[in-house]
Amino acid sequence: MRRFSFQDKLNLLSKLTLRRVWNGLCVLASYYSSKYTGKPVQWGLPVSISIEPTTSCNLRCPECPSGLRSFTRDTGMLQTDFFRKTIDQLHRNLFYLVFYFQGEPYLNPAFLEMVRNASQKKIYTATSTNAHYLTEDNARRIIESGLDRLIISIDGTTQEVYEQYRVGANCKKYSTARRVS
Ligand code: SF4
Repeated sequence: MRRFSFQDKLNLLSKLTLRRVWNGLCVLASYYSSKYTGKPVQWGLPVSISIEPTTSCNLRCPECPSGLRSFTRDTGMLQTDFFRKTIDQLHRNLFYLVFYFQGEPYLNPAFLEMVRNASQKKIYTATSTNAHYLTEDNARRIIESGLDRLIISIDGTTQEVYEQYRVGANCKKYSTARRVS
């Protein structure tokens, strides 16, 4: 379950601007108007979006399309130009950017550059990783990028338990991540 610490809540609130608050109220008003009148309206723009830096992954988790290599779309990397254009269009109203879905974000070499770009526009950024790429150098670059929330998926504390779901994973990798975090 996701938990926001007090510090994290303050950080989240610091991303609010008058325009973002107004946009959020418009989205809320659209929802209630559509619900009670039965006529769909849309007055606001997205307050939150989810972007996949990549659909590829180094692991083979059995419930994940990326792990199963079972996408019906191409596996590839999000291109920086496309990302920048999208954020340039949305950032005045956008409040929260989820940087993951299916795939390991750190496989995209431009991932932290994208995080930095979003952070500079005062958007709250969150990602999730299997921790296999959290080297000391990457840990430093993550902090410098301005990433607000880092979720590390760990499913066991021994190799035997861990690899039951995280097929192909190496328990020692997140031990390294723990040492540098
Ligand atoms: S680590 Fe994440 S993205 Fe990779 S196969 Fe497992 S669930 Fe899917």
